[in-house]
Order: sequence, then C-alpha cells, then structure tokens
Amino acid sequence: MSFIYRGIRTFLLAELVSGLSLTLRYMFRPKVTLNYPYEKGYLSPRFRGEHALRRYANGEERCISCKLCEAICPAQAITIEGDVRSDGSRRTTRYDIDMTKCIYCGFCEEACPVDAIVEGPNFEYSTETREELMYDKTKLLANGERWETEIAERLSADAPYR
Ligand code: SF4
Ligand code: SF4
Repeated sequence: MSFIYRGIRTFLLAELVSGLSLTLRYMFRPKVTLNYPYEKGYLSPRFRGEHALRRYANGEERCISCKLCEAICPAQAITIEGDVRSDGSRRTTRYDIDMTKCIYCGFCEEACPVDAIVEGPNFEYSTETREELMYDKTKLLANGERWETEIAERLSADAPYR
C-alpha cells in the first residue's frame, strides 16, 4: 500500500508542489531579514561598538588623563601617557587602544568620570590588517567628532538607568 501511495505522490510531484506552496505562502508575509548594508537593524543605546574620545562643545578634550580606564581595562588594551599643560590642566599626550585585545566589556566607559572614552554605535570598522586596529589618540578623537551626535543621543537615552 505504501508503495502505491509513494508512487502516486511521486507521479503527482507532491514534494515539489508542497515546497512551492510554502514558498508562495512566505512570499507575501512581512520579511524578517534586512537588506544589509542598505537596511540596518535597531541598535540599543547600550550597544558597545567602536571606541571614541569625546570633546566638549567648545572643542576642549574631555579626557583629563586620570587613567581610570587604563587601570580598569581587564584586557590591558589601553595605554595612556599624560602631562600637565601650561594652563595647569592635565591632558593625555598618548592614548592608545589595541582593538585586537579589547573585549568590548564597556568598563572603560563606565569608569570615565567625564564621559570622555565611550563605545559608540559604529560596528562597521573591519580592517584588512591588525595594524589598522591599533588606535591612537588622533583616531579616537576623530571617531568622537564623527559620531558625537549619535553618542550624545545614546548617553542621554541611557542616563536615567545609570
Ligand atoms: S571595552 Fe573593556 S576591554 Fe575594551 S578597552 Fe574598554 S575596558 Fe578595555
Ligand atoms: S578617558 Fe576618562 S577614565 Fe580614561 S583617562 Fe581620560 S578621563 Fe580618565
């Protein structure tokens, strides 16, 4: 009996029809996939992406070279050197992050008393070489300038929960 049943199903192309009907059913349903990179998904304000060093609105660097981020980094990815400027303020002369060591824990951002080092919303920074992932102060400040609007919005959205 099962032999006859299987024969009829084969003759009527039952598997093919069943597969096509499934395709047709899903064709008219809302898509669950995104057409990346043209479409991007929602990012939480707490998303921890590429690092950035921020400035105040007057252009002054926020970082005061307290080295709390360097001390707390569990991956020892941050290297800072600082000096006192002629006006008596303390600023970094070197701020490096080895992004190949970073585990994106966010501790550096949590430790920073002036919201200088942050993990921004950018996740599209893949590189072809390891050297490109050795970030220095210039690169981090440039990231801060590029992403300041998004970073400020993100910090403000998350502020009530901190
Ligand atoms: S996110 Fe974590 S591992 Fe990465 S630099 Fe900050 S403290 Fe270090
Ligand atoms: S980024 Fe923040 S925690 Fe790190 S040295 Fe600068 S002020 Fe201190």
